[in-house]
Amino acid sequence: MEQRIYLLPPEGRFYKANLHSHTTISDGRLTPEQDKEAYKSRGYQILAITDHRIYRNHQDLDDEDFITIPAVEVDINEVSSERLRPEDHTYHINLFDSMPEYKREEKEKGICPERRYGDFAYMNEYFRRMQEMGFLVCYNHPYWSMQNYDDYKGLKGLFAMEIYNHGCEHDGLYGYNPQSYDEMLRLGNRLWCLATDDNHNCYDLDDALSDSFGGFVMIKAKELSHAAVIEALKKGEFYSSMGPEIKELYIEGRELVIKTGEVEKIYAMMDATRCYRKIAMPGESITEARFQLDGNEKYIRVELRDREGRYANSNAYFLEDIGFQA
Ligand SMILES: [Zn+2]
Ligand SMILES: [Zn+2]
Repeated sequence: MEQRIYLLPPEGRFYKANLHSHTTISDGRLTPEQDKEAYKSRGYQILAITDHRIYRNHQDLDDEDFITIPAVEVDINEVSSERLRPEDHTYHINLFDSMPEYKREEKEKGICPERRYGDFAYMNEYFRRMQEMGFLVCYNHPYWSMQNYDDYKGLKGLFAMEIYNHGCEHDGLYGYNPQSYDEMLRLGNRLWCLATDDNHNCYDLDDALSDSFGGFVMIKAKELSHAAVIEALKKGEFYSSMGPEIKELYIEGRELVIKTGEVEKIYAMMDATRCYRKIAMPGESITEARFQLDGNEKYIRVELRDREGRYANSNAYFLEDIGFQA
């Protein structure tokens, strides 16, 4: 058998996570307890409560089947005379705590950045300080934030960015932004992508406008513990989805192998205007694709679409990082 490079590890199991969530601690409608119960009862095992500007540790809510990741969403808003409605331009950044006991008091006192929109030296230095405190830094919903390439291309030290934000999708059909992710990757940035809810729960959980349960991450971890989940996040051992399932993802020899739930399209995207693709006949489904890599792909990432139009995305993997040789 040819050697396999596993992009999703064969060991461990998948845990379902919502990594962007607001509660009554900021502008959400559910209490942290209700938020946990809502997600736990829908089959999730992991929740990051990311209230605006207020870092909190909710690990007292953790139980055998459910854990929380201490987190916060910070923002840097624009003041500018050069753009229409500059007040709508903003960086929203989620910080996920990999070391909750480290400098806990300092984090709880407040770790918001100064309002220095577009000052990349300052912002990247702020991200570096946050990393030092143990945070994984994620750039959120560029489309909703009215941001373009010039606003985000200079950001460094990101662990991930949001490729899908379900709350934003409900706000204005601008939740899905794979283009921004590709633009970051084409610059050579190594960063993962997340699908999240960003739920505020202004509507009931069973309302069509509910912003819960639409964007999630499936994390392949050895066990359900803070350490194991953080480790898997750091290593990119997860995928993002609005519904479709990625079951296996590996390279065997030169062949990229993707095993999925029932979908209508399986694409492997890269840093070029060609994609590897497999599409089902109308009305039919596929559950697997195999693509021959030629070694000229700088990075590859997998994107699926099911018949309801929902997407799943793998992370992007740079071939030189994973040791692939044609
Ligand atoms: Zn936000
Ligand atoms: Zn948010």
